[in-house]
Amino acid sequence: MLNSAASARRAIPSLDRLLKLDAVAGLVARYGRPLVTEAARAELTELRAALVRRTARSDSAFDEARFARACAARLARQTQPSLRPVFNLTGTVLHTNLGRALLPRDAVQAVARAMTRPVNLEFDLEGGSRGERDHHVERWLTRLTGAEAALVVNNNAAAVYLVLNTLAPKKEVLVSRGELIEIGGSFRMPDIMARAGCKLKEVGTTNRTHLKDYAGAISPRSAALMKVHTSNYAIHGFTAAVAEADLAALARKHALPFIVDLGSGMLVNLEDYGLPHEPTPREALAAGADVVTFSGDKLLGGPQAGLIVGRASLIERIRKNPMKRALRVDKMTLAALETVLKLYADPGRLQETLPTLKWLTRPPAEIEGQAQRLLPAVQAALQGKAEAGIVALRSQIGSGSLPVDLVASCGIAVSAPGKRRGALAAQIAAAFRALPVPVIGRVKDGTFIMDLRCLDHEAEFLAQLDQLKFENL
Ligand SMILES: *Cc1c(COP(=O)(O)O)cnc(C)c1O
Repeated sequence: MLNSAASARRAIPSLDRLLKLDAVAGLVARYGRPLVTEAARAELTELRAALVRRTARSDSAFDEARFARACAARLARQTQPSLRPVFNLTGTVLHTNLGRALLPRDAVQAVARAMTRPVNLEFDLEGGSRGERDHHVERWLTRLTGAEAALVVNNNAAAVYLVLNTLAPKKEVLVSRGELIEIGGSFRMPDIMARAGCKLKEVGTTNRTHLKDYAGAISPRSAALMKVHTSNYAIHGFTAAVAEADLAALARKHALPFIVDLGSGMLVNLEDYGLPHEPTPREALAAGADVVTFSGDKLLGGPQAGLIVGRASLIERIRKNPMKRALRVDKMTLAALETVLKLYADPGRLQETLPTLKWLTRPPAEIEGQAQRLLPAVQAALQGKAEAGIVALRSQIGSGSLPVDLVASCGIAVSAPGKRRGALAAQIAAAFRALPVPVIGRVKDGTFIMDLRCLDHEAEFLAQLDQLKFENL
């Protein structure tokens, strides 16, 4: 036996010869020589190890076709993009872990143009001199919010950081205790404030903060008043918060800037589209805010960005902060953002033109129709190992927008009844995640739930269902 394993090892062709096989040469044309050589070497190492362990048959001849197939599979695995499309059936429309807002096609085309051709990113075409990159979106932002000036940074966390670092270094910023929020684990208002070099001055209590609390906390050390939209939770019961207009008046009396972090911030009134109200930058500015910050990829439906709008003199100071250079956005972001902001000039068509709004306002009856259509295919794919049915659901808007307001939706629930229901639901979820285009749902009460609100590319979803594998069910 030992001898036959040793002779089988000797019978393995050389790497050079293997790389010349037709099937392997085809791989070289596709993936390039370095990757194919690496893959072939790895396959050979595995094969030799299997012969030593006797897990491979040593009496059969070297199978060249099988070797080429193994190399092809290894290369396909290795070169698959790490960042790839998934189906967001989580029921959270703006899912931070799944990339938040989806861009309109026009915005994607604008990005492609900006990436493949030189552009006037910081070039003034009239004067032929250096220009300002933020000017490409500033005119839209001021028009849509009523602000005097605007600028753009990498995301809203950066916007908050830059505003605080510019307006209140080494000084106190007054914030209500009820607004010291954490978002997604990595954004905590007190931490950002510390890194921005400001001192957080907590005002009031968790559930109730009054104007007199702010007034009593103002001192020569104060540099700004700040209001944070508590966008991912709500306090109910015995609560009190101070209206923006009152805070603005107090700030003005003491000649302090009033900063509002809106988080999501929507540029139109969502009630016009049948959705719950979300505060707009225009409202905050009209109430007297001096600087307002919000995200580009939450409800606004654009690329990741942090938007800063407000009084021209303050925006100019923020623009001159050297950290602005470190937090600036690139041309891709500006190209996408300009296109998306332009869509807001025609709010009547926004439901068609802006994917985020389209998904948020999708009629439940339409979602249910889709569920009915897909149910038989899902049932067939389960091969009798689990059951599927249609369920009424409530979708979340997500990304800290409108945390407590949910929109009616519909979906398909999959479960395997019995004592191991909970463990099996996790396995069902894993099987859907393992599909070529992973399907991401959620597991609740021993059931795997797919909320169909955001199911686009229905044909692609259906076509891959026959690849579902339930090994352990
Ligand atoms: C989401 C959010 C942020 C952080 O915004 P990013 O764009 O994710 O950096 C900051 N403040 C509030 C209130 C938010 O909701």
